[in-house]
Amino acid sequence: MSQEIPVDVLILGGGIQGATLMRALIPEYSVILVDDEFGDAESLHFHGYFSSGWNAANPQAAEIHRAAAQRWHKELATSGVNSRITDFHAALTPDFLKMVEGNWAEAAIPSEEVELPGIFDPDGLPPNRRFRFPGDLIFDGAAAYLSVSEPLRQQIYRGRLASFQLAGSDIERVILDMDGRSCAVKPELVISACGAGNAEVIRQLGVAEEQVQNSQMVRPLHMLLARGPDIPKVSAYLIDLMVMHHPLEEGEGLWILTLNPDVPKFKAGVVDRCIPPEIENDLLCASFKRLASVMPSFAAWAEECQWSVYAGWKTDAPGPNSDPLVHLEYPTPYQLDDFGLKNFLAVWPNHWGLALDVADDAGEWVRSKLKPHHPQPGSNSGLPAGTGSGHTIENGWQSDELLWHSWGEFARQVGYHNE
Ligand SMILES: Cc1cc2nc3c(=O)[nH]c(=O)nc-3n(C[C@H](O)[C@H](O)[C@H](O)COP(=O)(O)OP(=O)(O)OC[C@H]3O[C@@H](n4cnc5c(N)ncnc54)[C@H](O)[C@@H]3O)c2cc1C
Repeated sequence: MSQEIPVDVLILGGGIQGATLMRALIPEYSVILVDDEFGDAESLHFHGYFSSGWNAANPQAAEIHRAAAQRWHKELATSGVNSRITDFHAALTPDFLKMVEGNWAEAAIPSEEVELPGIFDPDGLPPNRRFRFPGDLIFDGAAAYLSVSEPLRQQIYRGRLASFQLAGSDIERVILDMDGRSCAVKPELVISACGAGNAEVIRQLGVAEEQVQNSQMVRPLHMLLARGPDIPKVSAYLIDLMVMHHPLEEGEGLWILTLNPDVPKFKAGVVDRCIPPEIENDLLCASFKRLASVMPSFAAWAEECQWSVYAGWKTDAPGPNSDPLVHLEYPTPYQLDDFGLKNFLAVWPNHWGLALDVADDAGEWVRSKLKPHHPQPGSNSGLPAGTGSGHTIENGWQSDELLWHSWGEFARQVGYHNE
């Protein structure tokens, strides 16, 4: 092992949360950010959608979402990332509206009761009312991530947590595995922004197993993909089906379809992030049924598209109750927790767009604990050159590893029959 590297703040995890947090602390504090497998980050498995809070069952949560959407809208406009690729429409059931509609005026969420775009026939859906939410954002998640992280590349290192050395409730030293090389870092503060990996980090800190189990919940999200020249430039939420449009190259478009099941399959605590959730064909067939019920041209249109699918773990905290997480019932729809340690904080944004709020709160925590102390570790510190995470930054739906199929082949594979 080489020499010990002193630093003010060590951030574990370089998704959108780690990157926004690092930006909030540099140059005031010295910061090292370490990430092991950025390619698997939720931040790149994401729809590219951030709600303005219309779906929150709690008025304060709705307000936090609305303000965060406005902040990102300004930030992305400044960095040249289009934050409104399309408008966002929704067909919502009376039961759902009972839960959320009262909050819209209270949280100043812009909404307009208008018909769905013409390709959809709402009469095919269960009873519903239709809205447009002009404050919602639809953007390219990878481009947005790059606009935050690119200026900080030199402080992003590829590596993973090997172990902690503790003295009572203080982290004294952190051993990192940097591409097979062991590095000892002596941070004043450690922040874990590891998404689904946070539970494993807190387990390594010796936190009681019950707390580890109750720290977070993960559920599978399926991204059913349709691409081609005839993808309608429309994004919507249709009772329980998310339809998200993104432009592709050479005049093609993409729809990402995600059905929210009545009972999401939550798992509590530690999850092996390297094993993606299994693809559930029943859910894919139900997605097709929902789309076919509202899109009169579905059968002919599906034939013109290429089809693919992937699934990722969506992480929320705290556990162990899933209902308040799904319905945004907690007043603060994100989570920060020190687990009783003096110089440690774990953070969960729960949604991409809440990373800025979490970075503010974690920044305040840092300032309450520490005056800037150490210089930024340089090239002679013993760390390998920090030239970004080393991974290609692209959205999950842009990956070369996806297999694309014709409609006939895909429908056969998943067992979908036109009715
Ligand atoms: C399929 C899918 C669709 C989604 N759609 C939406 C959406 O439409 N709108 C929305 O707001 N949110 C959405 N989300 C959720 C959103 O993407 C996440 O809330 C957000 O990206 C979490 O960011 P993060 O930085 O906390 O975690 P991540 O992006 O997962 O980053 C954590 C990083 O930590 C690293 N790491 C883990 N363990 C270690 C370790 N021990 N040492 C070093 N590094 C480690 C990982 O490699 C990873 O890069 C979606 C999530 C999924 C999975």
